[in-house]
Amino acid sequence: MRKAISCIVLSTIVAMSLSSAIASAPVARECDISEEQHLMQTEPVVEIISLGECKISAYCKENYPHICNNGDSSQTATGTVPLAGRTVAVDPKVIPYGSEVIINGHTYIAEDCGGAIKGNRIDILFDTHQEAIEFGIQYTNVSYLIKESV
Ligand SMILES: [Zn+2]
Repeated sequence: MRKAISCIVLSTIVAMSLSSAIASAPVARECDISEEQHLMQTEPVVEIISLGECKISAYCKENYPHICNNGDSSQTATGTVPLAGRTVAVDPKVIPYGSEVIINGHTYIAEDCGGAIKGNRIDILFDTHQEAIEFGIQYTNVSYLIKESV
């Protein structure tokens, strides 16, 4: 008789722990999925896209209203601080903002835009207007890297 009672108690405990395991199962699976998504978001997806020959022009960040800017060159179109040697203006429909743009072996960042910068045309930022004039207009092959999936 005593043995029978302990058997019932034991089976009740087993049943309880089983039901709690089943109840928690979907929660555990949700956690696994979100962890997977987290990994996918942080993993950089690098894609290299060749645009072929592009028209390359130049502009400057001298702070007065003229052809290069409207007198406020403190910020790019994407809110970054413009930096000669890094900043290029692009058509974001062609090159997504944030892409690394490779021109003549130098890597720039697509972080600005301009009224005349449409299609396969890129504007390279220089410190002075004189440097921009000296660069003039050049035609060269351009490729860009997408660092993250958007
Ligand atoms: Zn200028």
